Amino acid sequence: MLTPESILKSTFGYDTFKPLQREIIANVQARRDTLVIMATGGGKSLTYQVPALLFDGLTVVVSPLIALMKDQVEQLRALGVSAVFLNSSLSPDEYQENMGAVKSGQSKLLYVAPETLLTPRIYSLLSSLKLDLLAIDEAHCISEWGHDFRPEYRQLVDVRKKFPSAVCMALTATATPRVRADIMSTLGFSQANEFQSSFNRENLFIEVTPKREPVAQTIKFLENYKDQSGIIYCFSRRQVDELADALVHKGFSVRPYHAGLEDSERRRNQEAFIRDDVQIIVATIAFGMGINKPNVRFVVHFDLPKNIESYYQEIGRAGRDGLPAHCLLLYSYGDAAKIRYFIDQKEDPERSAAYQHLDAMTRYAEGSVCRRKPLLAYFGETFVGENCGTCDKCDMEESDLTDITIPAQKFLSCVKRSGERFGAAHVVDILLGSKNEKVEKYNHHELSTYGIGRELTKSQWMHVSRQLVERGLLDQEPAYRVLSITAKGLELLKSRNQVRGQINEPQKKERSGARGKVSAESEYDKSLFSLLRNKRKELADSAGVPPYVIFSDKTLVEMSSYFPQSRDSLLNINGVGKVKNERYGNDFLAIIKDYCRSNGIDEKYKAPIRAADKDAGRRYVTVGEAYNTGESIQNLMKRYEVSADTILNHLARFIMAGNPLRSAEDLIALSNLNPDQQMAVFKAFDILGSDMLKPVYDKLNGTVNYDELRILRLCYLCEGR
Ligand code: ADP
Ligand code: ZN
Repeated sequence: MLTPESILKSTFGYDTFKPLQREIIANVQARRDTLVIMATGGGKSLTYQVPALLFDGLTVVVSPLIALMKDQVEQLRALGVSAVFLNSSLSPDEYQENMGAVKSGQSKLLYVAPETLLTPRIYSLLSSLKLDLLAIDEAHCISEWGHDFRPEYRQLVDVRKKFPSAVCMALTATATPRVRADIMSTLGFSQANEFQSSFNRENLFIEVTPKREPVAQTIKFLENYKDQSGIIYCFSRRQVDELADALVHKGFSVRPYHAGLEDSERRRNQEAFIRDDVQIIVATIAFGMGINKPNVRFVVHFDLPKNIESYYQEIGRAGRDGLPAHCLLLYSYGDAAKIRYFIDQKEDPERSAAYQHLDAMTRYAEGSVCRRKPLLAYFGETFVGENCGTCDKCDMEESDLTDITIPAQKFLSCVKRSGERFGAAHVVDILLGSKNEKVEKYNHHELSTYGIGRELTKSQWMHVSRQLVERGLLDQEPAYRVLSITAKGLELLKSRNQVRGQINEPQKKERSGARGKVSAESEYDKSLFSLLRNKRKELADSAGVPPYVIFSDKTLVEMSSYFPQSRDSLLNINGVGKVKNERYGNDFLAIIKDYCRSNGIDEKYKAPIRAADKDAGRRYVTVGEAYNTGESIQNLMKRYEVSADTILNHLARFIMAGNPLRSAEDLIALSNLNPDQQMAVFKAFDILGSDMLKPVYDKLNGTVNYDELRILRLCYLCEGR
């Protein structure tokens, strides 16, 4: 019997669902129309692909871009799932062939553009079939309130009416509450069927740094990401060309991408990036829609984005595969002024809306709290917890904060005395006792606060001022950045409460490698990884697909940390399903085995988190049941002519699949450690969990080897401690 779990494991090669995936699939199985709002990389596709494989009939997926359709179909085919698309890029023969595959029921998934769906040809095709599921990708395109409205999406309402027995899904990564409500009412969905996962992308390290010498700063940053893929966003085409040239000159593998290039060149550059032939794309914001590349390891904003929504979408293109990725924004006040200049050319109400967006963006960039707080707040989500650990602010030492009450009071009273009519720079000039024209013009050299702040430098004062705005003690009017004191600020002047903050802008610590939240596999064998990557590239090129269609980086990382030696163990690796194992398993195994042999490395056991894979090797069940009837480990070794290790692996799998195992006595007898040492290992499992052995191994400083850890893990799980 097919279940969501069995499809997840045997087709996709994954052990567990990502948050909400399971719930969404169940809702669709129950034939309830479903709205899915999930951040990029959240795993939306799987939520309709799994039901598509469970239903008897056809699933139609509506997608706005040919590139996206092609990508999805390639990925599904690599998994052994028959899927086709119908659009204008096909030759008449190909079109006919794909129609045939749908008609005969050979293809369970059909990808189409919205405008194609209502053509008589497709309509009559669909009418002759059982349509079970209609999935609308990029569903925000249906809403006029969205940033990407497509009139042809409105026609989907008719499609839905024509196929009332098909369950409908709408999926998107961006939706403000207004757009969400619009999608629901347009498609006639009921409230209860909305699923929204967190916008927090834990694997992204988020950093904002003052823009000083941007080219040099970018080069320095890139040096930490040798041979890795990334995107650099610039404001203008000219900036793209200049930066791309500078980077090429420095020997980086770079291509430009912007609307000023010939279509063919743009396509070529994008393709080279997707296929890992080129590492870096320098682009205007025109780049990204239709890019599904999961192994983007960094996104740099060379210039300030116009609003938080685009910024979030752009950084969201990093780390779709769930591995750590680094997002850097180079921020300067001058960039904000430049954008402000463009906004000034517009008319209201567009103009004031644009100001508000920019204002939110600069407040974010100048902020002094965890980056995730304002970012998630923007999407109506509260970040729980004080310290995310993966942004520049949280990565700072607490000791960086000091008592800044005195400078705060000086600054606030200077704002007040100068009449709350000026920006920060002028206030600082007064505090420093500057003799400039503007100070004298307003007679500000006669104020009592004139020259009372000479103990700090101009940039220190500017930093203090930003923190006062951030803490809500000062208000900053967006257009001319005039400062005024808030009620909270006045309160502070009276109460003389302490203010804590920074005098100096923090020096960024040097880092190498992406710093997002990391998993136990982060310490993988880099040399093996690069051998596997070369193999992947070779296979991808000969199949004419992007490398990630063969295997994701995450899959290769797991291979390089568990060193699987058989097709059976390969199936335990994230992203290796039945078909890929058959197609590519031996190619990769050959490299791993060879590498392990010449480096004296053993396979590390990877526990299947959930034994969803019922038909791939049921040996572990037989072994587990035999053990439970009282058979000894030695007997089992003899019976199956395998090592103790293999028996232990089977027992571990048995237990992980949720089966109880009789007492641990026989098992503990296999351990050579003394009871104290054993206790220490159990304690470590208590703290770190028992899914991964590497963290436990590290915690014990390598004093207990993996064989022992494997034995003790079994005892641990057995006793159900
Ligand atoms: P979205 O469309 O929401 O941006 P995708 O559907 O492209 O996300 O999925 C993002 C990545 O996560 C893909 O590489 C996909 O293969 C992977 N993925 C999806 N579901 C799972 C899962 N349950 N376990 C592991 N990886 C998954
Ligand atoms: Zn943080």
